Amino acid sequence: MTIAFLNGDYMPLSEARISPMDRGFLFGDGIYEVIPTYKGRAVGFKGHTTRMAQGLKAIEIKNPYTVDQWQDILSTLVEKNTAFIESGNIGVYFHVSRGTDTKRFHAYPKNIEPTVFGFAFEIAPPQPTIASDAKPFKVALQQDKRWQRCHIKSTSLLGNVMHYQAGVDAGVSETILYNSEGMVTEASSCNVFIVKDGCISTPPLNHELLPGITRAIAIEAFKQAGLVVTETWFSKEALLDADEVWLTSSSKEVAPVIEVDGKTIGSGQVGPVWEKAINAYQAYKFEA
Ligand code: PMP
Repeated sequence: MTIAFLNGDYMPLSEARISPMDRGFLFGDGIYEVIPTYKGRAVGFKGHTTRMAQGLKAIEIKNPYTVDQWQDILSTLVEKNTAFIESGNIGVYFHVSRGTDTKRFHAYPKNIEPTVFGFAFEIAPPQPTIASDAKPFKVALQQDKRWQRCHIKSTSLLGNVMHYQAGVDAGVSETILYNSEGMVTEASSCNVFIVKDGCISTPPLNHELLPGITRAIAIEAFKQAGLVVTETWFSKEALLDADEVWLTSSSKEVAPVIEVDGKTIGSGQVGPVWEKAINAYQAYKFEA
């Protein structure tokens, strides 16, 4: 059983109900977050709630809760679901939609209350800190066909879903994306890092990619560990020519990639810089 949160109440997920007139359902009109927790300790709570507040502001939905109230909902969901998720690796999903209207009309309705939904689910265990223990990813590569506001963590995810599915259809587990100029932006559900000659790079933030919380924590962790990391654009050719490629996300942490679009990256093994990077990340993540 999973215990969910819906509009102020906790209940079994199977009993949670919303109206089909909810604008989240009709238009994907909402903002969401996924916050990872390990044995009850959250990673990046401040970053996640700040990004959610910014997303809600961008689409003019009033943030229904204070940071303390979000903290309380997170802790309660973790506590209530711990009995069902024995590993203690628990992701908490928060979703705020504009709410339920009486008609289907594009403009933002006035005076409706947001719908607030949360639930907990099992996530992968923390990444191991030894390269030979890591499970590397193979990914596809596609031109980014999504909208021009990828910095907003919108629940309208069809563009991302279609890119992700293209990877699944190709027999791999993610899809890295590049813009119309051939520069890598992010992946369908992760940020992207490369390593070339010992230097770590990730694309800088703009409207073409999500400001990942794991990305931000990783950059800080790497800097503190004395690793060289820059926020610079790199092309899809540079991606394929990199010594190492990594994905970052709340559920994958910093994950090594050994094949992109059928091409082997570097030696085809999880790289030595990844091992340093994941050690730095694991040592720092709960401090962020
Ligand atoms: N980019 C996209 C498109 C995402 O959906 C996500 C989250 N799954 C990320 C990057 C990584 O963000 P975070 O580190 O905050 O999970």
